[in-house]
Amino acid sequence: MQNPISRIIIVGGGTAGWMSAAALSVAVPKEVEVLLIESEEIGIIGVGEATVPAIRFFNDHIGLNEAEFVRATEATFKLGIEFRGWGHETNRYFHGFGDFGDDHQAISAYALWRRLRSLGDQTPLEAFSLSAQLALADRFFPPNPDPRSPMHNYNYAFHFDASLYARFLRRHAEARGVKRLNAKISGVNLRSEDGFIESVTLEDGRVEAADFFIDCSGFRGLLIEGALKTGYTDWSHYLPVDRAWAVPCERTDPLQPYTVSTAREAGWQWRIPLQHRTGNGHVFSSNFTDEQSALDTLMANLDGAPLKDPMLIRFTTGYRNKFWNKNCICTGLASGFIEPLESTSINFIQNLIVRFLEFYPSRSHSQAIEDEFNRMVLREYERVRDFIILHYRLNTRQDGELWRYCVDMPIPDSLQTRMDLFAHCGRVITEDRDTFKLPSWTAIFNGQGVVSDIYDPLADRLGEFELRSLMRQRLAEIEKVTQQLPSHAEFIARHCASE
Ligand code: FAD
Repeated sequence: MQNPISRIIIVGGGTAGWMSAAALSVAVPKEVEVLLIESEEIGIIGVGEATVPAIRFFNDHIGLNEAEFVRATEATFKLGIEFRGWGHETNRYFHGFGDFGDDHQAISAYALWRRLRSLGDQTPLEAFSLSAQLALADRFFPPNPDPRSPMHNYNYAFHFDASLYARFLRRHAEARGVKRLNAKISGVNLRSEDGFIESVTLEDGRVEAADFFIDCSGFRGLLIEGALKTGYTDWSHYLPVDRAWAVPCERTDPLQPYTVSTAREAGWQWRIPLQHRTGNGHVFSSNFTDEQSALDTLMANLDGAPLKDPMLIRFTTGYRNKFWNKNCICTGLASGFIEPLESTSINFIQNLIVRFLEFYPSRSHSQAIEDEFNRMVLREYERVRDFIILHYRLNTRQDGELWRYCVDMPIPDSLQTRMDLFAHCGRVITEDRDTFKLPSWTAIFNGQGVVSDIYDPLADRLGEFELRSLMRQRLAEIEKVTQQLPSHAEFIARHCASE
């Protein structure tokens, strides 16, 4: 009784829609027809330019060639994020993709550094992060997968033009059989007996039916909310920013292989370098400033001349109460939104599609599948939420009401536990599927001033002399590697130019 799905409709042709289409095109049986419906008249949101390293697995999995992808999407390489003004007004630190050196005899890189510090050495932790040092020197080269190489302990993601990425994925998915309709959906039709979605009606009166639907219609959540009334949980009390001004500007050099996030009085500003332009935006809380003041702040701090008028985007941080409801899943902005501080939304689209394929259903609905999927996805979402809250919570800024609110706001117990554990001994327990692992948590804790009370007692296995020479050797290797590598712009010109 396999009762297989024969037709899937994806609603929406933004990043979420075309990522879903591309992933299905390489995964579902060839007999399954995949139809994507998007409305060019409505268009896509067009922001969403920075990613985390997992995007590389997605691109590889669907068969994209990296150099071609970089050319087609005007992409640059991203080694992490520089945070300016986070923690306190004159602070800066780097959240790099990679650890602060290798573990040594099962002692973590952080524990080695913390013990060195307890011996009076003041070298900052960031000096041991190869990704941070490469980034800040504007160097780039892909890591060497050989764990014996001094160039293995880092990772990278991309900055890209979201509209070009959607277009690139579209070509890829259509070449693999995905059908596309440019049409506006005017109605969603539910089966009278069980409330499952039967079909969608287009503005010209056509009706398109399917067994399963993927709602990628953006904030409006046409199917998951408009038709299925799934409900939304608001997390604004934890993450109060709710607006963003975005403005693309001219490219400025040098082409930095990292995002910059600068804290402002009522939010923060992003700077994302692409090959053809620089993305700039100001994310802020309307509880603590007004839209005009937020725009003035952005325009007074732009990098490069604006190429377009600024665009205002309003959002509510939170999640759709069910990511899977009956015969519909939602992903992208239709499924919820956590502000872009750590560039997690595209990653969340990827995770959700991967989970969907793990739980790929038949036409016979299983409540067990729906429930387990929702439980797993929510858990991943909550852990990302906690990671973002941490950035706001750990601060002593006095220049804005937002920051004073964040110091005292209630936080989830799950985050409090992590904060207590790290403050004591520098440990963070993460799960396999977590987007952010120990090095990422450590970067934020350390960058925003938390030094654990003690180091891992196992680090005493190393004698003082051995520890000092190990750490000196690590710094020397990082310096040597950094000097040898090409600049980020040179790497793109040399390795990503068309053949
Ligand atoms: P959209 O791009 O809005 O697409 C919706 C689609 O649905 C469109 O094709 C539209 O035509 C279609 N549609 C809607 N209604 C209908 C209808 N009635 N009929 C037919 N079609 C319809 N993410 C990151 O990972 N990194 C970042 O740096 C980042 N920065 C961000 C900054 C801001 C300020 C915001 C708001 C978001 C950011 N994001 C970021 C999130 C990212 O933009 C989204 O996750 C991503 O663009 C996915 O959008 P989407 O495809 O869900 O929606």
